[in-house]
Amino acid sequence: MALRLYNTMGRKIEEFVPIHEGFVGFYGCGPTVYNYAHIGNLRAYVFLDTLDRTLTFLGYDKKHVMNITDIGHLTGDADEGEDKMLKTAQERHQSVLEVAKFYTDAFFNDIDRLNIIRPDVVCKATEHVQDMIELIKRIEANGHTYMSGGNLYYDVTTYPDYGKLANLNLDDLKAGARIEVDQNKRNPYDFVLWFTKSKFENQALTWDSPWGRGYPGWHIECSAMSMKYLGEHFDIHTGGIDHIPIHHTNEIAQSEGATGHKWVNYWLHNEFLVIAKDKKAAESGQAEKMSKSHGNFLTLQSLIDKGYNPLDYRFFLLGGHYRKQIYFSWDAMDSAKNSRTALVQRVARLAQNAGGADSLNYSKIYSKGEACKTENLSEKAKEYIEKFQAALENDLSTPVALSCIQKAVKDGSLKPEESLELVRRMDSVIGLNLVKSAADFLAEQEKEKKASVPDHSGDPEAQEIDALVAERVEAKKAKNFARADEIRNMLSSRGIIITDTPNGAVWKRS
Ligand code: AMP
Ligand code: ZN
Repeated sequence: MALRLYNTMGRKIEEFVPIHEGFVGFYGCGPTVYNYAHIGNLRAYVFLDTLDRTLTFLGYDKKHVMNITDIGHLTGDADEGEDKMLKTAQERHQSVLEVAKFYTDAFFNDIDRLNIIRPDVVCKATEHVQDMIELIKRIEANGHTYMSGGNLYYDVTTYPDYGKLANLNLDDLKAGARIEVDQNKRNPYDFVLWFTKSKFENQALTWDSPWGRGYPGWHIECSAMSMKYLGEHFDIHTGGIDHIPIHHTNEIAQSEGATGHKWVNYWLHNEFLVIAKDKKAAESGQAEKMSKSHGNFLTLQSLIDKGYNPLDYRFFLLGGHYRKQIYFSWDAMDSAKNSRTALVQRVARLAQNAGGADSLNYSKIYSKGEACKTENLSEKAKEYIEKFQAALENDLSTPVALSCIQKAVKDGSLKPEESLELVRRMDSVIGLNLVKSAADFLAEQEKEKKASVPDHSGDPEAQEIDALVAERVEAKKAKNFARADEIRNMLSSRGIIITDTPNGAVWKRS
């Protein structure tokens, strides 16, 4: 088997063949840091994390690059509306950079809480404006630009493949749809590469450029930074499906307009997290994209405030395939929480059967390809790894991968040590932190147990009963049931009742 991915360019599942054998360069569009990420945005990063972890599992070296948009993104993706960063800065009486720092930190806090591996390169737009200027110069030299109204535009009619990612037809576009009335544009789908004069007279951050002092359009940052860190031709580019018709379409026009050759081989897009607007809509099954502009968004913190663990949300997302819409509801979150908790408790039980909590006391980081090696595994365990691998190779099918872990922890035909080994390996991709969570669960249980042990100092009879109850526990462990029953009966005749609980045996006087 080999990794197969759905390529939006061409709209079909294809075998993945990297440009350089054994190495994958990929770029995911990062957040615009003008507000907290909502949990819909976070779906995009859990998906990217699944790709990242899968590549390591399958034995690839990888370089994962993500941008931070801290300049140039307007409320509409096609150059219309207000500047997102500037708007928040004005509302909060802060500088754009202060706003960017605050929300960038908040974003990485969310990423960490979701156990998402940080990208290998995180690059900020404001730190790469010179790279953008150099790229725009190349686009200009190739005849794709024009100045109008003080801004530099990309003329989409000069790039014959414009719209191929989204299957847009330029003739239809020209004749029909209007995306905005911008008198400066020759064609409605032209877009800004460099703003000098715009509606934002008070733009806080500006740079000198061959086209005058100003600032870059939104799309150019991704072309410039991805090429800087991954080269002019790389393997995979990702983002949410909303980026297909405008942002990614324009990124391709810019990048290929500058270099004259193919830029990205595989385009992967995650579907939306959707949510019902209100109770009535929920009851009739109507849902819409979660977004800040619809005002229907939730943050990770709001889930935590309601008592969920961030990993419950990760579990919820992985239960759906990234190319399918996923419907958010509190019932679905409850069910994810219950299933994740059950999984963690099963791992804890496995550890107890495999020699106690100590078997959870190390965390293993697998090197590339190590977790999917099957040489030292039993036939049964090997089957699990192969099924798990096949699920991921089938366009990153996390629901099937997740069910492989759930089955492996319940499979009594596997030795507990072996099930634990499978959990460690599979969790290197699923990322639910199962071993650590199980260790925490056992530690918590131990704490509760200790707290529930009554203080019997000064009560010799109670101490004697404690000793007998402890002896009964040991007898049961040694399968000496005769002695265990004898103790129970002896105590019972003295009016002492023993109850076995998950936290151990407790007794009371009747
Ligand atoms: P932004 O910060 O607005 O650039 O968005 C960050 C990422 O989240 C982009 O890849 C978007 O496509 C993605 N995204 C936005 N809304 C949703 C949603 N409701 N569900 C899934 N992904 C989304
Ligand atoms: Zn982008």
